[in-house]
Amino acid sequence: MRFTAAAKLFILFGDPVAHSLSPVMQNAALQAAGIDGLYIPWRVQSAGLPAAFESLRGMDNFGGANVTVPHKEQAFALVDSLTPEAAAVGAVNTVMARDGRLLGANTDGLGFLRSLYEEADFLPRGKPSVILGAGGAARAVAVSLAEAGAQPLVIVNRTVERARSLAEFVYRNIGTAATGLALDDPQMPATVRDCALVVNTTSVGLNPADPPPIDPSLLHSTALVYDLIYQPRETVLLREAKRRGCRVLGGLGMLLYQGALAFELWTGHKPSEEVMRQALVAAVA
Ligand code: NAP
Repeated sequence: MRFTAAAKLFILFGDPVAHSLSPVMQNAALQAAGIDGLYIPWRVQSAGLPAAFESLRGMDNFGGANVTVPHKEQAFALVDSLTPEAAAVGAVNTVMARDGRLLGANTDGLGFLRSLYEEADFLPRGKPSVILGAGGAARAVAVSLAEAGAQPLVIVNRTVERARSLAEFVYRNIGTAATGLALDDPQMPATVRDCALVVNTTSVGLNPADPPPIDPSLLHSTALVYDLIYQPRETVLLREAKRRGCRVLGGLGMLLYQGALAFELWTGHKPSEEVMRQALVAAVA
């Protein structure tokens, strides 16, 4: 990788951050575009994030930033202004400098929808959908599915209060009725059996020894099962869903598309998605 002392700096804030594939993907894109820049991970705890963001305001060679677990909601409060997507989601995953001020965007939801359309030819409008999990990623997925017309929308989470609170957030902000359920709610089995889309946004499956996030026997063969996890590429949920005849999709496409959108916001240029995809595939292989 080549860069000069005048290189633009692109930063990924998270804690932990060492597992992320964004540096591999974004550095490949910068190089392919001939941009004098470098994308680096910056591990920072929540208490240090305000000072880290303040330092960006005075950085002449700041190119842009991404924000990952667990800082997306805190970043929402630290930027000076928001894109409509970030305002709707209530979380920021992409930061740009505009005249010394920080503009927060969120590309997760659009990245997810694009992955659904392009990799599975799936249009959410009118489709009963279940989201497993109610954390930061679930928020972007829930808002984007609601905006794309998925209904009914059910959010299932271990901590039921978070599921209900996200369902209320979706109703308040998008106007789509959503329901929050506990994993052991008696309505859960029928809800999963009757849905067209199941999206796992929990971190269950990151460890290959994890059990599936729900009982796979509930899955109907007509459902598309999407797991946001991209490493391992085939999680236990996807493996079990495939065995039951479901169409399945892992999270690599969402990672690619949210990253490509962020790159375009920072640089004003469309990146080579093929280069980014190849970098990701090589990194997970
Ligand atoms: P998060 O905010 O920490 O949320 C984690 C979610 O997982 C919560 O709903 C949590 O439930 C649930 N959970 C964790 N451990 C569990 C367990 N043992 N049993 C049942 N539920 C459990 O994390 P996040 O930012 O939403 O990220 C979630 C996943 O999405 C991660 O694997 C991340 O890598 C992936 N992701 C992928 C992309 C992509 O581009 N493909 C983008 C963003 C995120 P509680 O509320 O009960 O704690």
